[in-house]
Amino acid sequence: MSDILTTCPYCGVGCGIRANLTSQAADITGDSAHPANFGRLCVKGSALGQTLSAEGRLLHPQVNGDDCDWPAAISAVAEGLQQTIAGHGPGAVAMYLSGQLLTEDYYVANKLMKGFIGSAHVDTNSRLCMASTVAGHKRAFGADVVPGCYDDIEQARLFVLVGANMAWNHPVLFQRIQAVLQAKPEAKLVVIDPRRSASCEAAQLHLKLRPGSDVLLFNGLLSFLAQQGKLDQCFINLHTEGFAQALASAQQQAATVAQVASGCDLPADQILQFYRCFANEPLSLTLFSQGVNQAVDGTDKVNAIINCHLATGRIGKPGCGPFSLTGQPNAMGGREVGGLANQLAAHIDYTDKAQQALVGEFWQAPKLVSQPGYKAVELFDAIERGEIKAVWIMATNPLVSMPQADKVKAALAKCPLVIVSDIYQHTDTLDIANIKLPALGWSEKDGTVTNSERRISRQRALSPPPGQAKADWQIICEVARAMGFTHGFSFSSAAEVFAEHAALSGYQNSGQRAFNISALARLSAEQYQQLTPMQWPVTDTRPQGTARLFADGQFFTANGKAQFIALRQRLLSPAAVATPLWLNSGRLRDQWHSMTRTGSVAGLMQHTPEPFVTLHPADAALYGVMQGELVQLSNAGGRLVLRADISANQRPGELFVPMHWSAQFASQARADVLFAADTDPISGQPALKLSQVALRRF
Ligand code: SF4
Repeated sequence: MSDILTTCPYCGVGCGIRANLTSQAADITGDSAHPANFGRLCVKGSALGQTLSAEGRLLHPQVNGDDCDWPAAISAVAEGLQQTIAGHGPGAVAMYLSGQLLTEDYYVANKLMKGFIGSAHVDTNSRLCMASTVAGHKRAFGADVVPGCYDDIEQARLFVLVGANMAWNHPVLFQRIQAVLQAKPEAKLVVIDPRRSASCEAAQLHLKLRPGSDVLLFNGLLSFLAQQGKLDQCFINLHTEGFAQALASAQQQAATVAQVASGCDLPADQILQFYRCFANEPLSLTLFSQGVNQAVDGTDKVNAIINCHLATGRIGKPGCGPFSLTGQPNAMGGREVGGLANQLAAHIDYTDKAQQALVGEFWQAPKLVSQPGYKAVELFDAIERGEIKAVWIMATNPLVSMPQADKVKAALAKCPLVIVSDIYQHTDTLDIANIKLPALGWSEKDGTVTNSERRISRQRALSPPPGQAKADWQIICEVARAMGFTHGFSFSSAAEVFAEHAALSGYQNSGQRAFNISALARLSAEQYQQLTPMQWPVTDTRPQGTARLFADGQFFTANGKAQFIALRQRLLSPAAVATPLWLNSGRLRDQWHSMTRTGSVAGLMQHTPEPFVTLHPADAALYGVMQGELVQLSNAGGRLVLRADISANQRPGELFVPMHWSAQFASQARADVLFAADTDPISGQPALKLSQVALRRF
């Protein structure tokens, strides 16, 4: 059998894979022709061949605990949704989706809910991951777009990582950065992170700042650039608005390095070193991820970074720009179809009535929604209140990943109808579902994903479906038809779904929308099968895609100008600063999400066999904790029991726990029970990086 080209299902780097499956073994290697990885794979991607066992898979639909066939399961879902709508209105129905879904799955789910059922309560676990970046992009650029591309890495000289441990979480891209650092002695890496992470090993400078002080740090940089005459005044004048207000706001709190040093709890000389590096290196790339996004001011952090790039004109050009690193394989694809509660479809939100009408016309939608729905935290709160009475969860495990995870568990336990589509027989969430639907997993399903640089790649099936498992888009279409929506859901292949999605992106407005892949709408089934990785927009004038946006200084705002945002750092109160212990959470090198796939690989489990909490030696001494002994962390959300890992990588008073463990793997290690459901008021993204906790020996 010849090799099949597909895409890794883990992180947002989106590495291309060459796979050869025989009945005896799975040979997985990097695709040397894929522009994301050029043949490289990290340890997780390399181990994919060991995750393909049918053991533990959900192989049959189940309704109320009994195996059944598909017609019975589809009827049960359709009738359950129809009864809920008849009794309580369409707003009593919700979907909670996932960046693990393929774009085709996302598209039909979003279409069914927002065009036919008439409920806007469609949100996704990308809300926990990228929502602040989406909001920041829209404020600055007028659309949710990543300006640059991975090729900028090889052209840059300064890499600034903010809240991103790329060495573990985007390893193949980090390898590309390391290669530049080795090849070009003048190149530098600056890491901005409250923790000393693995990424710091390659860095010339690590700013171990106070958690949550990023806006102050970048406001200080904006002030410094102005003081030093390092602004690109021509770019500011021609292509932006709001600079004077943004600078004035920055100078109120961060006019001097001393002010920044005090607020960020950093040595002034380190801040100055960073500011000088940035000021003097035009080829600077600022890469950011969850440490920026998962905060009550995540959107402001994103805009604080973008402000500095706009002020220096470092955007839309090779080797520079603000660069958001997506967490999941298809976090971007969900955004493209509108799978967030505050978007309608194809990057169209609820502010433009004419665009909304076009979506309704294109879909021939009987019940097009006109208002945003509930974002993830709001959605589960509405379930708890009893307002939402039926929820369909696909390819995600919110009982582990949501803040206040125990509260989410209690809410779902009393929800009258919980439908879960998953590939495994047991997950924390699946175990409390009324209806369980077996979905296809990676290596079985067929469709597209979009990585951090807007590159659409194909995931291709390598093996036949196990048991009765089906593609998510097929399951959704069958439910839609069973609900009486006889037009709009008659797709017979993923290729047909993709073609409609692509056609909508340019409908009646070809070339004008930020997200436009209309040139791909005419692909034949064979061309879809052969589709090579491509960066959107893909239009008739850009048939090969678009590496960089904004090269012409034109943005997607109404007047074509990028917007500076005037920002102020929200400061913690002195009492909060003095609070003994703050908890941070994050990922490990060899695990993915709630470990349903990676937890089955012995070699990956060896890296970190059990959950832990890292604390500074000073805190260990204060609480009398020894290395390796069990400690309890607790707050109003619940408690964890974990082994202590004592390390000066932490700042004193700050703890770190990995986010991966579920009840399935360790009964008292679900990190997210300890995070309150505090959210960024603009993006709705929960603050999963900062929570007050108490610690005691167990
Ligand atoms: Fe997969 Fe990300 Fe590793 Fe690439 S870097 S192989 S996409 S997990």
